[in-house]
Amino acid sequence: MTVSERSNVLDGAALADNVKADVAGRVAELARHGTTPGLTVVLVGDDPASAVYVGSKERTCIELGMKGETIRRPATITQDELLGIVDRLNDDPTVHGILVQMPLPKHINPEAVIHRIRPDKDVDGFHPVNVGKLLIGDKSGFAPCTPAGVLYMLQASGVRTAGADCVIVGRSNIVGKPMASLMIQPGVDSTVTVCHSRTPDLAAHARRADILIVAAGRAQMVTGDMVKAGAVVIDVGMNRIPDASKKSGTRLVGDVDFDSVRPIASLITPVPGGVGKMTIAMLMANTVRAAERDAR
Ligand code: NAP
Repeated sequence: MTVSERSNVLDGAALADNVKADVAGRVAELARHGTTPGLTVVLVGDDPASAVYVGSKERTCIELGMKGETIRRPATITQDELLGIVDRLNDDPTVHGILVQMPLPKHINPEAVIHRIRPDKDVDGFHPVNVGKLLIGDKSGFAPCTPAGVLYMLQASGVRTAGADCVIVGRSNIVGKPMASLMIQPGVDSTVTVCHSRTPDLAAHARRADILIVAAGRAQMVTGDMVKAGAVVIDVGMNRIPDASKKSGTRLVGDVDFDSVRPIASLITPVPGGVGKMTIAMLMANTVRAAERDAR
């Protein structure tokens, strides 16, 4: 079930479980032919948030019967050493997917690293070859996991995308731009507006949206007065704000002010428990697809 009967809150965990169940079935099928899909994540430095993401990627791989490996290196690693690791993984036939966790230390050029990953192992979908394929609608590439997860959520929940006015807040290479590419593809057929920090009167754009996708990294910036009645609101944001009632002193919130938007939206994703759950599931789906292709 994607939307509970009494709620307009999309259940990211349930949708992610559907994707993971499909992946597990495909992993079992590959196992019958002697292939175990393998994802290797490279983690540089000791950023705590990155360590959490990487840990859950590795755990999910193992839960689904895949090989999940993490290569950890200190922040002092040189760019050449990191590129050497990528080269080795590119050549390793047991590694089907490679992901270098961002952000990288300042002395390493992230583009040089992304460009070095073989496009057919780039399960994050950030290599220019995959970015280009996404733009031209060539489905042989990998779409970045978060926008692909958002589109899956919309389609699996029966949201009509064709002809819908879709407003995206944020134009990053990771979320906003690939999200726009996906929403304008034939078959999805939305009319897309992309807003960013230089957009005058963001609220006026947001209020036109049938589908509002927010990925700005600004805690609770989209409020109820910025949303059209009945809009579908997808909150990609993940922000920590102070909360004295929590042991950690903080809590996770999205870019959408959930309490004021929920009564107005026809569907809304919560944070946590929304888009974040989908991202890892789509990473697993991309990895199993890389392995299937390799096994052919
Ligand atoms: P980013 O690279 O910082 O990009 C943010 C975008 O939002 C930029 O294009 C920026 O505009 C725009 N923006 C910032 N403030 C704005 C404002 N006041 N009005 C309109 N536009 C504004 O961030 P990102 O990597 O795309 O991530 C966005 C959020 O999603 C973050 O909270 C991140 O943690 C979260 N995220 C979640 C997942 C997940 O799995 N759930 C995955 C990835 C990211 P300019 O380009 O003009 O600066």
